[in-house]
Amino acid sequence: PLPVLAIVGRPNVGKSTLVNRILGRREAVVEDVPGVTRDRVSYRAEWMGREFTIVDTGGWEHDAKGIHASVAAQAEMAVDVADAVLLVVEATVGATATDEAVVKMLRRKKKPVVLVANKVDSELVEAEASALWGLGFGEPHPVSALHGRGAADMLDAVMEVL
Ligand code: GDP
Ligand code: MG
Repeated sequence: PLPVLAIVGRPNVGKSTLVNRILGRREAVVEDVPGVTRDRVSYRAEWMGREFTIVDTGGWEHDAKGIHASVAAQAEMAVDVADAVLLVVEATVGATATDEAVVKMLRRKKKPVVLVANKVDSELVEAEASALWGLGFGEPHPVSALHGRGAADMLDAVMEVL
């Protein structure tokens, strides 16, 4: 079986856009409306000649009062079957309460985590990614899933832990 990489993070940070970027095609469901990915979906991916499975997460219904716990619980299901985790955070927003719930769950799991600071569309916002060092998952990798900026370096980092 191929190694499994789970993509986790709160709704609308760009997980599915990043999956499409990694796949090099438009396949994961991306919407402007948060939470539109319909289910956990897995895809076969490849980087530098190595094949792996990507599991995109998100898209379940969350009841309004339980969103933090609900996002974390759904991410946990994907993390439990994964060999490594790509944690996606929005660089310009920083870590929200929902992100913190996911972070807390990930700390318990002790699986390798590559931290992505997404929506770094230009050098101008790259500095904002540095604040994410505070999450305790090492270096935040600045990426623009939309434009591809930083994606190669991020994938190189993933290959070191997958
Ligand atoms: P998900 O809910 O985490 O899967 O997020 P999506 O991939 O569906 O993206 C949510 C919104 O963020 C969409 O409007 C995307 O076009 C946008 N988005 C995703 N990545 C980027 C990025 O790198 N830069 C910018 N500016 N927007 C992005
Ligand atoms: Mg999605």
